[in-house]
Amino acid sequence: MAFEDMEIEEFRRQAHVFADWMADYLAGIEGYPVRAQVAPGEVAAGLPAEPPLRGEPIEAIFKDFQDLVLPGITHWQHPSFFAYFPANASPPSVLAEMLTATLAAQCMLWQTSPAATEMEGRVLDWLRRLLGLPEGLQGVIQPSASDAALAALLVARERASGWRGNEAGLAELGAEGLRLAVYVSEEAHSSIEKGAKIAGYGRAAVRKIACDEAFAMQPEALAGAVAADRAAGITPACVVATLGSTGSGGVDPLAPIGALCRREGIHLHVDAAWAGAALVLPEQRWMIEGIEAADSIATNPHKWLLTNFDCTAHWVRDAEALKRSFAINPAYLTSAETGEVVDYRDWGVPLGRRFRALKLWFVLRYYGAEGLRAMIADHIAWTAELAAEVAAHPDFEITSPPALALFSFRYRPRGLDDEARLDALNEALLTRLNDSGRLYLTQNRVRGRYAIRFSIGARTTTRDHVVAAWQTVRETAAALGA
Ligand code: PLP
Repeated sequence: MAFEDMEIEEFRRQAHVFADWMADYLAGIEGYPVRAQVAPGEVAAGLPAEPPLRGEPIEAIFKDFQDLVLPGITHWQHPSFFAYFPANASPPSVLAEMLTATLAAQCMLWQTSPAATEMEGRVLDWLRRLLGLPEGLQGVIQPSASDAALAALLVARERASGWRGNEAGLAELGAEGLRLAVYVSEEAHSSIEKGAKIAGYGRAAVRKIACDEAFAMQPEALAGAVAADRAAGITPACVVATLGSTGSGGVDPLAPIGALCRREGIHLHVDAAWAGAALVLPEQRWMIEGIEAADSIATNPHKWLLTNFDCTAHWVRDAEALKRSFAINPAYLTSAETGEVVDYRDWGVPLGRRFRALKLWFVLRYYGAEGLRAMIADHIAWTAELAAEVAAHPDFEITSPPALALFSFRYRPRGLDDEARLDALNEALLTRLNDSGRLYLTQNRVRGRYAIRFSIGARTTTRDHVVAAWQTVRETAAALGA
């Protein structure tokens, strides 16, 4: 049986059909339930166990995509998506992804696509300027903020072990008596702990530092933990400060944390996965006061900056340290330019790299600083407005105040004070809201209490969607009673 490929003219025809579907989908997205309404196993049940022996026409595959797959999709670009943090995409970003997919270039070395490497450097420098980050940082696009944190933890491990971890292995360093510790706030994202596991610190080496009322790391508590570790013969290797914690939007104070890290020679990584996007607004740059002391910072244009997943901007002060932690130079990966040019293969875990810079370039050029600022400012303003309404309602209370475009609340009908019942009631409320398909919210525990997070960030959201969501919450809660 000979290999039969798709004719290019057939590809052209199908690409038009797909493009029409894509535009129709985006135009009609409000017609879909926000969160997928399928039961576990339902999608898999529609997919045959055996792979096809004979190739099938694209029309049949596309039809199954619509009938079998689409019902199992949660519509992250829906204007009533208020769950997690946003993963807002945009038409220019999608168009760029079509080009990236078509070129299908592996951009691991400068030589394997010079434009990809050089554009990556340029757009990350544009973004650094747009966010008001200091000079002297060099950027790389990582797949995710988790990858950036892992990279930072590996560099910190190597620095703290005199660059011996990679060569000798952790067992050897441990036998020599080296013990390392990592510090995060108790509100930090789980990806830091995951990175500490992968990088060989072990979860037991992660110190979760207490936060203040505003969910921000307490620098005095950090200093105390560092001192206690030193006294016990443990080497403090890395602090990861969070700007915009996932649960409550807490912002760790970089100035005192950075000063401590400089004094103590501790590596400082800043995780601004979500909140970094808000730095396009000069009035939000209070968050990066003290950033000069950071060794690296990561933020996700794939969250709140209109760029399709995956695209994490990761800037480092010392690119040599990053490369030294990752580089391996087998003969088959050298090129005539090795050493003279940037080869991003040495800047992170995967060797192969997609041309991710292209979509960010499209987004930054299409919207410009003004467009991005306008969207983010709207989201922040609507969040404050909604949180004020929730706070004023006698049957609801705020559990964490607005931080940029995130706050959390709970239903607390007058006269009901039993915490266990309030937890159960709010869980039931959230289930009912999400089952309705009209909006999508997620939960958190704030100081031990079940809370409903409200996070605005979809590109298509308008103030009317926010008003409608609040009405749905009020009506659903009232129908639930106490
Ligand atoms: N850090 C913070 C503060 C986050 O909120 C998140 C995800 O929501 C992450 C890290 C992980 O992001 P990623 O999916 O890019 O690894």
